[in-house]
Amino acid sequence: MTSSAVTAVPHPRPADRGVIANARRIVVKVGSSSLTSIKGGISEEAVTALADALAAKRNAGTEIILVSSGAIAAGLAPLGLAKRPRDLATQQAAASVGQGLLMARYTQAFGAHGVTVSQVLLTAEDLMRRSQHTNAFRALNRLVNLGVVPVVNENDTVATHEIRFGDNDRLAALVAHLVRADALVLLSDVDSLYDGPPSHGAKRIPLVEGPHDLEGVTIGKAGKAGVGTGGMTTKVEAATIAAGSGIHALVTSTPNAAAVLAGEDVGTWFTVNGARKPVRLLWLAHLASVRGQLILDDGAVKAVRHRHTSLLPAGISAVEGDFEAGDAVEMVSTDGTVIARGLVNYSAAELPQMLGRSTKELGKSLGRGYDREVVHVDDLVLV
Ligand code: GLU
Repeated sequence: MTSSAVTAVPHPRPADRGVIANARRIVVKVGSSSLTSIKGGISEEAVTALADALAAKRNAGTEIILVSSGAIAAGLAPLGLAKRPRDLATQQAAASVGQGLLMARYTQAFGAHGVTVSQVLLTAEDLMRRSQHTNAFRALNRLVNLGVVPVVNENDTVATHEIRFGDNDRLAALVAHLVRADALVLLSDVDSLYDGPPSHGAKRIPLVEGPHDLEGVTIGKAGKAGVGTGGMTTKVEAATIAAGSGIHALVTSTPNAAAVLAGEDVGTWFTVNGARKPVRLLWLAHLASVRGQLILDDGAVKAVRHRHTSLLPAGISAVEGDFEAGDAVEMVSTDGTVIARGLVNYSAAELPQMLGRSTKELGKSLGRGYDREVVHVDDLVLV
């Protein structure tokens, strides 16, 4: 056999977990309940086991970005709190105490393998505004180029209710997208999705190729441990966001980390089913909290949905909600169907006088600045 015959070996199928074994860059997300308990705080063994698996992969040449929850949970014991607080201020305080402790553990555990870690705290705003996400991308990119494993968390101490991710699963999906990872691995205490309750002899779902594979599957809420937030729902959402925008995703349990990174057949694999999109549009489609609604007439619905144009004041028949310029709003048809989401260029107070009028006329009567579209096509995503 000649050497050229050897190169004729077929490539692994895209659904193949070998994508992870051979990845150049992977984002791994780990949940609070895998790392901490309310009573005991951070589990040294759990952090060490995870760091062992990730550091080995990093030392073998794969760039790793770790999105780690656990700051709030790690802060509970030192503050004498018996359960996860409900109010934002105490969550912020706990995160502020716990984040440093968590980083100290990671620094030590990765350091044992000669791997340096760094802390990167992000807010939703950092990922939605172009100047900021370019900046976050540059910093993360430089860190991984330097051989560092950045440890990312939401900046819980300063994040407010309105703009919080709240769960790190979707944060991880956006980070994976931002850094153009080849794969996103979501680790929690459940080893995979199942097609029914485990007590009824349910089978593992090894592969999800699109939403149809999840039809009829009941997805569990947050676990019993009481420290995590998202449960399987947010993991599936995050994996779906990733797969829909060009990144393979895998959902499994934390003790399976080394097996996943070796490309073994564990967990549930979400194969890519959509192309890469601008990160801002992903944020708009999946994460933005909507502040109001613009009711579109039939012509505007057609223009936005089929001709992919910007939304002009002439096509809006009513405005609902209380929003400022720059907020996210929904565009809705007269029968109440949501057509799109977008960033609006005017406040709810400014818009009523503009409805139904042409931009030319508005520019003339209200002045320059009022001749712009209400939602620019680049700030609009169809749903
Ligand atoms: N950012 C939160 C923390 O570190 C956790 C969010 C989540 O549970 O996903 O405690």
